[in-house]
Amino acid sequence: KLITDYSEQEASDAAQQLRETLNQWSSDYYTKDNPEVEDHVYDEKYRDLQDLEAAFPSIVTPDSITQRVGGEVLSGFTKVRHDIPMLSMGDVFSKEELVEFDNRIQKNVGYAVPYNVELKIDGLAISLVYENGQLIQGSTRGDGTIGEDITKNLKTITSIPQTLTKPVSIEVRGECYMPKQAFADLNKQQEERGEAVFANPRNAAAGSLRQLDTKVTKARNLDTFIYTISTFDNLQVTTQHDAINVLAELGFNTNPTQRVCQNLDEVWQFIDDYQDQRDQLAYGIDGIVLKVNDLDLQTQLGHTVKVPRWEIAYKFPPEEALTVIRQIEWTV
Ligand code: NAD
Repeated sequence: KLITDYSEQEASDAAQQLRETLNQWSSDYYTKDNPEVEDHVYDEKYRDLQDLEAAFPSIVTPDSITQRVGGEVLSGFTKVRHDIPMLSMGDVFSKEELVEFDNRIQKNVGYAVPYNVELKIDGLAISLVYENGQLIQGSTRGDGTIGEDITKNLKTITSIPQTLTKPVSIEVRGECYMPKQAFADLNKQQEERGEAVFANPRNAAAGSLRQLDTKVTKARNLDTFIYTISTFDNLQVTTQHDAINVLAELGFNTNPTQRVCQNLDEVWQFIDDYQDQRDQLAYGIDGIVLKVNDLDLQTQLGHTVKVPRWEIAYKFPPEEALTVIRQIEWTV
């Protein structure tokens, strides 16, 4: 049935059903680190809910998954409040939708703007707080406002500097991930021990970070890419591209692939390059991220309750290997 054929009541009922399904899948994914379905299945249902809510704005509920950052805080960890919320990210799945995003930005700003284009690392977001160059707190995103204090766990990860090259007081954000090799080794070990294997490196990374025993985290060989400066101290940074370079100078691990693109043609080129190289990378990516490069413009564009307006993820189609597995399952 087409959305345009729904009555408001039918739309409301259908939305409620979608929310229940998505809430259940989110809980398996974020709280248990054990997804019930693959991401693209979740993404399709999420898009159905978004479309229904867009067609019938009156059916939107404040607790709808489209109105909040998915994720919960596990008991057992001290809670950390994020003064600057850790948001989710809008996503698009086609070039047409990317053009729509670019049009929205141009309309809002009044002219075409360059984007800093980055790989979308398939891990989980972390926040790191430094005082006078010393790491004092590390946390998960949680529900965006309240995260989990995982300072001790993060201190076991060698790519996270405990002391920066300058005595600055800043908050930075980035991605903690499990490299493909570490993931393969971990699942082999789990199998040998007769324990459950992890569904994918993202969930393995999340499960490994949120451990009460830091020795377990240490043994899991996690790594990081840091890409956001949240509070700047006196650092003179005006673009996202420079922010990443400054992060590297401060001692963080940063992803070397970022590229400033002046227009969408250059963005397509970046997408083509990395869609092809995806399998050769030592870490998983599930798309690329476009960010308005000018940090003042980012502030001007602001955010919705859930996502910044100045960035968007272009998600890759599901990996071929997975498609093949599913085809086999269907034909058996
Ligand atoms: P998201 O993971 O799609 O995008 C936001 C995140 O991207 C940020 O929080 C950050 O951690 C990460 N990121 C990676 N590289 C980045 C970069 N270079 N710059 C900025 N951020 C970068 O959004 P989300 O809200 O965390 O999760 C929603 C997604 O999670 C869904 O689209 C779905 O794919 C997946 N999910 C899957 C299930 C399931 O059952 N399979 C359930 C819930 C959610």
